[in-house]
Amino acid sequence: MRILVLSDAHGNRHGLEAALKFGAACDEVLCLGDIVGYGAHPNECCELLRERGAHCLSGNHDAAVFGEISTEWFNDIAVTAVAWTRQKLTPDNLMWLESLPAQEDFPEWNCQAVHASLRSPWEEYILDEGIALPNFRLMTQPLLFFGHTHQAVCATIGIDRAQWRSGVSVAWEPLPTGADIELEEQELTMINPGSCGQPRDGVPHAKGAIYDVEAQTVEIFAVSYDVEAARAAILEAHLPARLGDRLLTGR
Ligand code: ZN
Repeated sequence: MRILVLSDAHGNRHGLEAALKFGAACDEVLCLGDIVGYGAHPNECCELLRERGAHCLSGNHDAAVFGEISTEWFNDIAVTAVAWTRQKLTPDNLMWLESLPAQEDFPEWNCQAVHASLRSPWEEYILDEGIALPNFRLMTQPLLFFGHTHQAVCATIGIDRAQWRSGVSVAWEPLPTGADIELEEQELTMINPGSCGQPRDGVPHAKGAIYDVEAQTVEIFAVSYDVEAARAAILEAHLPARLGDRLLTGR
């Protein structure tokens, strides 16, 4: 059983399509939310995932679009994109987004999934060891996939909870493209597969992960896609130009 794990497509059809194509042979698709917001193709992104039968979560941008959370803490560009996306989405796709859970457990795959963090499924950024630790405490499966930061990373901790100490117990490792992780039985692991629609690690490719449940391995991949077309669509839609420009640099 191989599972394609994607996050933060953010309305970038070109990036999402490239990542889905790369993982076309996978048995299942798991999408960690922020399906819309920023990019010019929110409906197409919903439909690509729905057609693929992906297990999807909602993210904070999705929740802002369907009105569940306020955009008070969003920057101006994100607020503009949320309003534009809300106008653009079909009622059916809007209802579908609203129906998605913010987190889900998959005991049959020994993993669980959340958009942001287990402490705060739509909000908290797991950015370092210190934030990872309290989230390890909430894990009920050996592996957690999370998104939200748009940075591929792997964090691990030994399973003996008596040994856990703030700041020293967690191993925190940013993941380059091509990283191959062998999951250890004696550890809990958290993995962020990066973003397939708006990378922020300086590499302007669509990122994702492939989780092999039997082999207990996770591979991080990055595929090039038509960044210029994704940018042009953003400009044509009169979304803020910065949203298109940042795709060129992956920052
Ligand atoms: Zn996001």
